[in-house]
Amino acid sequence: MQTVLVVATLFFVACSADAKNQAPVAPVAPVAPVAPLKFDSSRAWIDLQRQVAFGPRPAGSPALAQTRQYIESQLKAIDVPYREQTFDAMTPAGIIRMTNIIGTIPGRRPDRIGIATHYDTKRFAEFKFLGASDAASSTAATLELARVLTNRRNEYTIELLFLDGEEAVNREWRDPDNTYGSKYYVKAAQQAGTLGRLKTLILLDMIGDRDLDIRPDTNSARWLNTIVWGSAARLGYSSTFIPQDFTVEDDHLPFVEAGVPSIDIIDLDYPQWHTAQDDLDHVSARSLQIVGDVVLDALPQIEQQLAGNTPPAR
Ligand SMILES: [Zn+2]
Repeated sequence: MQTVLVVATLFFVACSADAKNQAPVAPVAPVAPVAPLKFDSSRAWIDLQRQVAFGPRPAGSPALAQTRQYIESQLKAIDVPYREQTFDAMTPAGIIRMTNIIGTIPGRRPDRIGIATHYDTKRFAEFKFLGASDAASSTAATLELARVLTNRRNEYTIELLFLDGEEAVNREWRDPDNTYGSKYYVKAAQQAGTLGRLKTLILLDMIGDRDLDIRPDTNSARWLNTIVWGSAARLGYSSTFIPQDFTVEDDHLPFVEAGVPSIDIIDLDYPQWHTAQDDLDHVSARSLQIVGDVVLDALPQIEQQLAGNTPPAR
């Protein structure tokens, strides 16, 4: 409100000066008020609920195709261009057609910062697995980050990665039965010669837990952990971002192995993990808010670090 009044006053002064002196006065361009970057967890919460309402969403399922349509509709609504990267994955259950969605928000540089999530859920024949935290939560947060970042002057191009097939098709997580989408993305980018411009990857996974506690992963780049845990401390989220190392295998590993500095922001301390109780009762909008705030606070520092030098991959 105040910004609008100032602009109106300036405009009035310019007009009256023009009229009095009959001299040409350069028009005063109204300065568009820059909206503060605000992650809105109430919007992200709707994204989370919509995904859960589609039911179990394993790779290759009609419900995952509906989820994909939903994600794409949300990107369309904010004019973020995207492409589908479809491939046939050889799995223990045979060939499954999978699709990554890759959105792009322009930045000053063509070099990219990736923000990634998986959007498939683990298949369970014996119960309905809804994946409210794993991974409707991180998919919702990535969509909301996209909305915020389209309103930001980004130093780096932001690449949004909605990855398919993170979950193992078999019950056990055993190579090569996992992270199909991220492996495919990395291989395709290497072959196309475009992986080198992906300067870092911020992976979100399982961030919906009501009782959120996130620990730094030792497979992530240390400098990224330092920036993110510093942001969390500054924002007063030290009880959520606990500085206690652990090691996790997730969609970031194919990127790490290809030399892309990456961070996995994940809460695996979730008793409902891979159970029928990973549902709306065990996740909260507040948890999405915390992670959204931290990522937005960390982003300028990550950009500075990338612009200043070549940080190590691990
Ligand atoms: Zn999972």
